Amino acid sequence: MQDRVIIVGGGISGTATAYELARNGVNVTLLERGELASMASGWTLAGVRQSGRHPSELPLAAAAVARWPNLAAELEADTEYRQQGNLRLALSESDVPIIRGVVDASATAGIPIEYLDSIDDVHAIAPALTDQIFGASYCPSDGHANPSKTVLAFAAAATRHGAVIRTGVDVTAIATASGKVTGVETTEGPLAADVVIVAAGIYTPRLLGTLGLNLPLDIRHVPAVQSVPLPPMLAPVIGVASGMFAGRQQVDGRLRLTLNGTAWNGGEWHDQYSVQPTLEQVRDTIEFAVGILPAVRDLRVAQVWGGLLDLTPDALPVIERSPDVDGLIIAAGFSGHGFCLGPITGQILADLAVVGSTELPIEPFQLTRFANQTAPSESLTLHG
Ligand SMILES: Cc1cc2nc3c(=O)[nH]c(=O)nc-3n(C[C@H](O)[C@H](O)[C@H](O)COP(=O)(O)OP(=O)(O)OC[C@H]3O[C@@H](n4cnc5c(N)ncnc54)[C@H](O)[C@@H]3O)c2cc1C
Repeated sequence: MQDRVIIVGGGISGTATAYELARNGVNVTLLERGELASMASGWTLAGVRQSGRHPSELPLAAAAVARWPNLAAELEADTEYRQQGNLRLALSESDVPIIRGVVDASATAGIPIEYLDSIDDVHAIAPALTDQIFGASYCPSDGHANPSKTVLAFAAAATRHGAVIRTGVDVTAIATASGKVTGVETTEGPLAADVVIVAAGIYTPRLLGTLGLNLPLDIRHVPAVQSVPLPPMLAPVIGVASGMFAGRQQVDGRLRLTLNGTAWNGGEWHDQYSVQPTLEQVRDTIEFAVGILPAVRDLRVAQVWGGLLDLTPDALPVIERSPDVDGLIIAAGFSGHGFCLGPITGQILADLAVVGSTELPIEPFQLTRFANQTAPSESLTLHG
């Protein structure tokens, strides 16, 4: 009999996987406790970048960046993907070596990236930026997309190919017998499966814990500020050497601005109020943005929200078919840069479910590297 696959989580990782499995004729059901894209895949800045990636992630990011330009046609829905580059700014002399390091590391890995040391070169790409910039990296093949539209596009394509997608269903435990996955327990009752894929973002450790598996996550709370629609003023995604800030202008003209995260102290579960940013976080985000984009001073704010980031001890994800529990597949801990990878994460997880292996190099992403680790050791350096 054909394997039945259950995916836990309706973000970009889960919906992309549902699409890949369904189009290959696999019997797949995706369960989402809230709405699709209601967590990181909705909160995200949605930068799509290879530049500044850890070498272990680069093959995945490169494969993703190769796929993004054709994704809308493939999914038959607009993702608002724009390949308009990524500018990472040195805002002081001491930032310059950091940016040069990003350029050297990315160039060595074969990514088209250049170092801009004149403000004229920076302004040629982003004229609205302050002239208090000491240098920048520029990777023209990076870009950005609309996160909710992308997730809904994957989900709709998955459904067209026969996937079942259920929202409002909370998976409370993964069921096993004799070391093998047998299904899931949910708020709507038990469901049987031969393979369970956990792509549940920050709540992944909770589910793995029911199996005695340890995924240490440091949850960071990140503010986001969105302006009303504006005339075009910023084509690339912008970030800064310290990783403190990232921003972009959406296709609809709204600026989407995010600041570095602070420790999440909102309890075991988030809700619509606890996840909101504080006034201080909103103020700091706007102040930082004004320093880089002086025109932001006169902008009108349309929305603010908070997002929760799943930071692992080495700021790299876990992507594996579990060696401990037969039929269990894990994809979590993307540490603030898993949106770009989504289309490739889907491909990898589908391969792990169907053939048990993948051609992409995922050895660095095994859960066992965190055995016995409780305290996070890596600070979040880059998002966007
Ligand atoms: C503010 C911010 C900015 C970011 N910027 C970028 C960026 O510029 N570029 C980039 O590449 N990445 C970025 N990221 C990271 C990126 O958004 C995430 O890595 C990515 O969206 C993770 O997708 P996911 O599908 O794995 O997880 P999620 O999108 O978090 O989806 C997990 C889903 O699982 C569901 N779920 C959880 N538990 C259960 C359960 N028990 N039962 C059923 N459903 C469950 C949740 O409701 C959720 O919808 C950013 C993140 C944030 C928060």
